[in-house]
Amino acid sequence: MSTLTSLDKASGVALGTVPVSAPEDVDAAVSRAAAAQPAWAALTYAERAAVLRRAAASLGDRATAMRELIVRETGSIYGKADYEIGAASAELLEAAALAARPIGEVRPSNHAGRFSLAERVPLGVVAAITPWNFPLVLGMRVIAPALALGNAVVLKPSPETPLSGGASLVELFSEAGLPEGVFQVVQGGADVGERLVAHPATAMVHFTGSSAVGRSIAATAGGLLKKVSLELGGNNALVVLDDADLEQAAMIGAWSSFHYQGQTCITAGRHVVHAAVADAYVAELSRRAAAIVVGDPYTGQVGLGPMINSRQHGRAASMLAEAVADGATVVTGGADDAPFFRPTVVTSVATDMRLWREEIFAPIAPVLVVADEEEAVRVVNDTEYGLVNSVVTADLRRGLSVARRLRGGMAHVNDATPQDEALAPFGGIGLSGLGGRSGGDDNLEEFTQRRWLTTTDLPVHYPY
Ligand code: NAD
Repeated sequence: MSTLTSLDKASGVALGTVPVSAPEDVDAAVSRAAAAQPAWAALTYAERAAVLRRAAASLGDRATAMRELIVRETGSIYGKADYEIGAASAELLEAAALAARPIGEVRPSNHAGRFSLAERVPLGVVAAITPWNFPLVLGMRVIAPALALGNAVVLKPSPETPLSGGASLVELFSEAGLPEGVFQVVQGGADVGERLVAHPATAMVHFTGSSAVGRSIAATAGGLLKKVSLELGGNNALVVLDDADLEQAAMIGAWSSFHYQGQTCITAGRHVVHAAVADAYVAELSRRAAAIVVGDPYTGQVGLGPMINSRQHGRAASMLAEAVADGATVVTGGADDAPFFRPTVVTSVATDMRLWREEIFAPIAPVLVVADEEEAVRVVNDTEYGLVNSVVTADLRRGLSVARRLRGGMAHVNDATPQDEALAPFGGIGLSGLGGRSGGDDNLEEFTQRRWLTTTDLPVHYPY
């Protein structure tokens, strides 16, 4: 039996080991989930909601151990771990409330005597595949609403985070009294994920991860005519207009690009700044970047931890070196002390550089200077991604008008690009996703399907 060892990302110390699921283990997990799902769906909504509320309570009881695990396994500071625990708890409590939402509506009918009902029913077994950056909350964002609405779930977390993204969730739900079989975790890499996607008994695949993998999963699911929901990468922009408060703008810029080493789908990988304020903005952003302490978040008081692995560190370092070779200037920061990557501000970037066009996934803030709002909108929209953008301005009306012209599923005025809430419609378009949204009532759309049900209380007449 092969195993997977989870590592502390700063020190390399082993945190634990899980067995890798063999193909027959994946099949068995899906079968157990499929067998358990009808009885779970047949429980009352109050019984399902109670399990979700108990899972939130047990997450609270385990918060101390969980935050330490997230810090070490994802290489994040404690603040990010606390955010994950709070957000995962909110997902559970909102899902408990979701279980009590109306699950159907009466539609008008053109047939006399007909009662026409559009009923929401569960999909069956939902396959969830998650990344390593926010393993707890990105798992919970799928599991909690899917369970609330009567589905069973089989989760495959990233091999970088098998504990906070997988094993801990199993413990949480079993402590909460979730009936046996309803939630299963399989562990491993791409091959395990592929098996789950292709399994005939998974009715839906919910994938959060890179656009390249999302595309291949969508192709498989398309061939199998299976519902698929994709939350993919981003190349998000922060627009700073000429009337912006530059202290605020630079703080928003620093958080948008450096938070959790820039390793989120909603990181700002592009700063688009009006020429009138560009020098002052770069100076203040660089001052803030240089003041951030980088190191092991488990043992020291730091603002940024290590990169998730040497592959991601190397990829970002080579994108930065390539940009510099093509004329870009590093104002502060750099990739010189792996696994750490200092917060980096880059100027003189060109829109054809890889650093500008691709998702970076590292704490790098490339700054492009534009002449006016029109150019800002054009530059921001010149991407195949479409997740989130932000605009900073003193004029709310101007901010709204620019924000609404930016390509993406989400936009914020006078706040950072990394934003998520349990009730917000989170999601993107293009390379960032298929247009589905998670959060609030959008979860009803994601995790149920409609059944049209009619009854008639008059005799019917047909030609034969
Ligand atoms: P990834 O695409 O490499 O892996 C994501 C998951 O898919 C992992 O569990 C991985 O093992 C699995 N996987 C890989 N190949 C597979 C295949 N062929 N079939 C089935 N499963 C497969 O992404 P990552 O490096 O773990 O995470 C970073 C990416 O996730 C970034 O691009 C980021 O933008 C994106 N992300 C998006 C969101 C969002 O909500 N839009 C949130 C977080 C992260």
